[in-house]
Amino acid sequence: MLADRIPWVEPYKIKMVEPLKITTREDRVKSIKEAGWNTFLLRSEDVYIDLLTDSGTNAMSDYQWAGMMLGDEAYAGSRNYYHLEDNVKKYYGYKYLVPTHQGRGAEHLLSQTLIKKGDFVPGNMYFTTTRQHQELAGGTFVDVIIDEAHDPEALHDFKGNVDIQKFEDLINRVGAGKIPYITVGAPVNMAGGQPVSMANMKEVYELAHKKGIKVVLDATRNMENAFFIQQREEGYNNKSIAEIHKEFCSYSDAATMSGKKDLLINIGGFVAVNDWDLFEELRNLVVVFEGLHTYGGLAGRDLEAMARGIEEAIKDENITHRVRQVEYFGNLLKNAGIPIVLPIGGHAVFLDAKRFYEHLSQLQFPAQKLAADLYVESGVRSMERGIVSAGRDKVTGDHKYPKLELVRLTVPRRVYTQTHFDMTALAVIELYEKRKEAKGLKMVYEPTYLRFFQARFEEL
Ligand SMILES: *Cc1c(COP(=O)(O)O)cnc(C)c1O
Repeated sequence: MLADRIPWVEPYKIKMVEPLKITTREDRVKSIKEAGWNTFLLRSEDVYIDLLTDSGTNAMSDYQWAGMMLGDEAYAGSRNYYHLEDNVKKYYGYKYLVPTHQGRGAEHLLSQTLIKKGDFVPGNMYFTTTRQHQELAGGTFVDVIIDEAHDPEALHDFKGNVDIQKFEDLINRVGAGKIPYITVGAPVNMAGGQPVSMANMKEVYELAHKKGIKVVLDATRNMENAFFIQQREEGYNNKSIAEIHKEFCSYSDAATMSGKKDLLINIGGFVAVNDWDLFEELRNLVVVFEGLHTYGGLAGRDLEAMARGIEEAIKDENITHRVRQVEYFGNLLKNAGIPIVLPIGGHAVFLDAKRFYEHLSQLQFPAQKLAADLYVESGVRSMERGIVSAGRDKVTGDHKYPKLELVRLTVPRRVYTQTHFDMTALAVIELYEKRKEAKGLKMVYEPTYLRFFQARFEEL
């Protein structure tokens, strides 16, 4: 088949377009200064190609938009809730569903329900909002990902895997009674979208269950993870994404989900569990923070778009295009000798700012600056995933100094064409050619929580 020779070819066509504003370099210098050198504080109108995130930036299909018109906006028992519940059971396999306004709403409810003060919560590398909610609930996050994940150049098919030895060491050190659950994110966002193997997930589940520890899957991009398993793990080549995805979920007791990623929607999420008692507690708490348990902060139409999004997202041709498009983009940079995280991940291409701006120290915020410079150069918006995102140690108050100092160029689903990525790659390559001229930044405003969203900087 021809499509096999261009595996990133789109399994859809475009029905509606949104014009983009073309800006000048002068405009963009003014905008970035106003935004305190933080791409989160730019106005979207001033951005040409927006690769800030793949969260809620998806293009919905005609099938999803048609579903929006069938929103049942009843306060209680909306039919769209039941459609979503059916699909979560069918495609994820969990018994009970609590919708939330987005992923962090689910993380909040689950953390408050399961974590006691003084508990430890292991995970395969932190995620910003996940760890924040664990800490707010009185827990301490412990990273148990394999060492390779912290090295942007280490090649590993499943670089997101849990290091079973690290997990076991933690159990021996603090006792299983102090570990309510382990979080497995697949693929691992902060490590560069690196997948977790089925064998590893199974091993985690077996060890955790032997010790009476629950396994919580951060299922945000689990369908993409299933694609990597299909491509790379023995025995899965002939299985569909749907089968692999459901098997993976079966090695967990609960899942938190940001529908804004995999599920091709603009807002929505859920927490799903197998345990009735836990479900009861979550259902009790959701009415305090999100809304009634049959809408969880969402309109009926949003629930319908999410229910339909599951059906579309899970199709092999969708995920294949999705991950292959990211790979196409990543290869343009890799082949030009740009330092990026390898292997190329599922949802984004990550520039290695430590090697890109070799002459800047980590305290001069090289990734923050690189994201800002790329915007000024080309109008492309990306995001820092380095020392600013990592935040401060809650005991010492010092920065956390993560090994990875990255800029994430995230690919929204069904939004941009090959030409957009060709142009973006060109912009990065041109910036790389004059990398030695770059100056660092100093932080002039620092918020208490998730500082990367609102921090402000000045050029040194
Ligand atoms: C986005 C994300 C979340 C949080 O979800 P929101 O919908 O942004 O609140 C949690 N985990 C991972 C891996 C994510 O990428």
